[in-house]
Amino acid sequence: EEVEEEEVEEDKLQDRPPVVTFMGHVDHGKTSLLDSFRGSRVVNGEAGGITQHVGAYQVEKNGKAVTFIDTPGHAAFSEMRARGANVTDIVVLVVAADDGLMPTTYEAIDHCRAADVSIIVAINKVDLDRADVNKVKGQLQENDLSPEDWGGSTLCVEVSAKEGTGLDDLFETILLQAEIMELKANSDGPARATIIEARSEAGKGPSAIGIVQSGTMNVGTAFICGNQYGKAKALINDLGERLKTAGPATPVEIVGFSGVPNVGDELIEMDSERKAKKLSSERLDQERREQLSPQKEESKSALETLFANIEEGNKKVLKLIVKADVQGSLQAIENSLSEIESAKISLEIIRKGVGPVTEADGLLATASDAILIGFNTKVESKAQALIKREGVQVKLFSVIYELLDQVKEAMIGELDPETRENIIGHAKVLEVFKLSSGKVGGCMVTDGRLARTARARVIRDGVPVYDGGFSTLRRFKDDVKEVKNGLECGVKLGKFNDYLKDDVIECYELEKLDLEL
Ligand code: GDP
Repeated sequence: EEVEEEEVEEDKLQDRPPVVTFMGHVDHGKTSLLDSFRGSRVVNGEAGGITQHVGAYQVEKNGKAVTFIDTPGHAAFSEMRARGANVTDIVVLVVAADDGLMPTTYEAIDHCRAADVSIIVAINKVDLDRADVNKVKGQLQENDLSPEDWGGSTLCVEVSAKEGTGLDDLFETILLQAEIMELKANSDGPARATIIEARSEAGKGPSAIGIVQSGTMNVGTAFICGNQYGKAKALINDLGERLKTAGPATPVEIVGFSGVPNVGDELIEMDSERKAKKLSSERLDQERREQLSPQKEESKSALETLFANIEEGNKKVLKLIVKADVQGSLQAIENSLSEIESAKISLEIIRKGVGPVTEADGLLATASDAILIGFNTKVESKAQALIKREGVQVKLFSVIYELLDQVKEAMIGELDPETRENIIGHAKVLEVFKLSSGKVGGCMVTDGRLARTARARVIRDGVPVYDGGFSTLRRFKDDVKEVKNGLECGVKLGKFNDYLKDDVIECYELEKLDLEL
């Protein structure tokens, strides 16, 4: 059961603050500008205050708020986009007036265009004598970002992070752009948020910073988030204050995750934590299955696999993941393994590689029930916990013969035990007794012996009608282990309750045979 897309109820939409990211070439002043806005916030009348890094913060002036994402640069931005998350509404492209457009500026423009976000240009460092605002505007025009005062539509603001000039202007411009964009959200519905940072702290457990996209997040809200789930134990803003609720565009730290979510994951409110947990485990299962399938496609085409299966019938398969120190030994191992012949079981190497046994190997082994084989290599410490938790079989070797022997042993271990039946005696039912516990066959052993620990079948007119172990084997009133040829006894097999005169009791033992491949 997946989460349903919500219908947008137009009439319930309200204006929401814009979410802003700073981009630009290195040293052009992104961090300085972000810091200026951040520092402009007043905490309980005390300038500066104690702020914590929450990846985003909100600035309010004259009752209007702007949310700033505080990781500058387009790497974080495109990483989020790669995960399908588009939290940014407006990009402030920072261009130093003394330097003009530089390689990273062009890259940033490309990213903004690909993401279809609005650009506002902050022409920074206008305090410098070398500052040449017109040159920057000319470069913008050449790149289809014609400044508004030149007849284009790109809003440009001249600022100095150093002297703090133009910052109000930039803030107003962001609000103006937001108004043009008509950014709206419904704060009533179930909460949806995008995760922009996540971590796990001792004593606090996993937490994440999300930006609420719609609805309102409350303390106590149950949610699904990627593969994780949870219930908001606490909501904390970037000033370290505990919030009861967080509405659209609010950046908020959410405490109470089952595990650390991924950046870019969408958090969605659910009715109950129980439902969220169920969905989370479904998603985890799904992920495991997906991790598994591309591997198989790599090794064989569908048709090849089909034919192989037909040829092999119901042959068993032992799956291996092989990691070795170098390519040479990996090939040697593969060659040797391919020479192991068996009509009953085949080997399938579902992943092979050079290097240590990793957590990803452990996951694949868990998902596909494979054995991890390491040759002259170690198990990464991160993988150890998973391997222990999931009970994955890991075998490490430094000698190829030992590796082969153990793989053969493991193959044999996969085979169903083979047994041979040895008939040890027969008895004939002479009379049927009715006891309070049910019917018992009164028998005479006609050859060999009956043994209590052996198995027996009831044969009527040459046809077996029951097969099972002894529940009763008696001589007169005594339970006995064995009854020899020529002696009388009472027999009851399992819960069988339907003995007839002249039935034959055939007693046999199963002998375990040594298995071979
Ligand atoms: P980022 O790499 O884009 O984050 O740039 P920074 O904010 O780290 O700034 C790079 C350098 O430029 C620092 O030494 C800042 O002090 C300086 N800087 C930033 N803004 C201004 C400004 O408006 N005027 C002047 N003169 N220097 C600035």
